[in-house]
Amino acid sequence: MTGEYRSGFAALVGRPNVGKSTLLNALVGQKVSIVTPRPQTTRHRIVGIANLPNAQVAFVDTPGLHNHAARALNRAMNRTAAAALEDADLVVLVAEALKWTSEDDLTLARIVKSGRPAIAAVNKIDRAQPRERLLPYIAELAARHSFLAIVPTSALKSDNVEDLKHTIARHLPVAPAMFLDGEITDRGLEFRIAELIREKLTLELNQEVPYGVAVEVESMAEEDGQLAVDAAIWVDREGQKPIVIGAKGERLKRVGRSARLALNELLGRRLHLNLWVKVRENWADNARALRHLGLE
Ligand code: GDP
Ligand code: MG
Repeated sequence: MTGEYRSGFAALVGRPNVGKSTLLNALVGQKVSIVTPRPQTTRHRIVGIANLPNAQVAFVDTPGLHNHAARALNRAMNRTAAAALEDADLVVLVAEALKWTSEDDLTLARIVKSGRPAIAAVNKIDRAQPRERLLPYIAELAARHSFLAIVPTSALKSDNVEDLKHTIARHLPVAPAMFLDGEITDRGLEFRIAELIREKLTLELNQEVPYGVAVEVESMAEEDGQLAVDAAIWVDREGQKPIVIGAKGERLKRVGRSARLALNELLGRRLHLNLWVKVRENWADNARALRHLGLE
């Protein structure tokens, strides 16, 4: 790329679990957005910034667009994704290699409706089997929409991620940088701490419980050279409290330990973490609770 400097917002959209957050982290080169094997892990719009010699890309991670949005939380997640898409200079449809579902159709319909220019990333190519079905899959994708480019990637193995980054940058508007050098996300410390705790918690829990869990940092203070953090884990039913805490408090202890280790690394300093489990009945259906958690 030569000549003019480019910058803008590139929204990563797609159905749940295709690897949008993993891709964001790979594109930025740091963990900005949490990742778990479970669909619907990402609930917010999260910006991750990458600087190239001639461009600055603000990637926007979004919740996966999904059907059956029965709860207020799920409707809010779909709204967040749709709004990020419409605000973007460029949309990146993230799809999974060899797999196309009705939720991918839903996402593509949103892109078409937005009229935004779009690039497709065909992710998880590391496990696309049989290999020879990849080219026909890409040809079908090309027939579905006139993408500016279709880039196969493995976010997990960082395959072709640099190529995707440059392809995106090339298609951004000519504009000056929007973020300072060194800025990697628009999200503050409290949010990143709460999200990392939710990641570790989600990895510990089975089945439907993670969808009823939210994390909120209640206080942060300097204490004897350490950062002391109190965080509340909200569950939406009394019956989930013992599940989160575990027998003799073992599960909550494990979550606390792995969150603390991850946070020590993220912050480059030691941290003292107190976790509390609190019940707020049906918070995921409660507009005020969602607003309070920044989930609108
Ligand atoms: P999102 O819901 O679209 O944000 O997806 P995530 O980034 O949270 O990833 C969902 C799951 O897919 C996680 O278990 C990731 O490790 C996994 N994943 C993401 N990208 C890849 C990839 O390129 N290859 C493989 N094999 N797994 C991936
Ligand atoms: Mg995600």
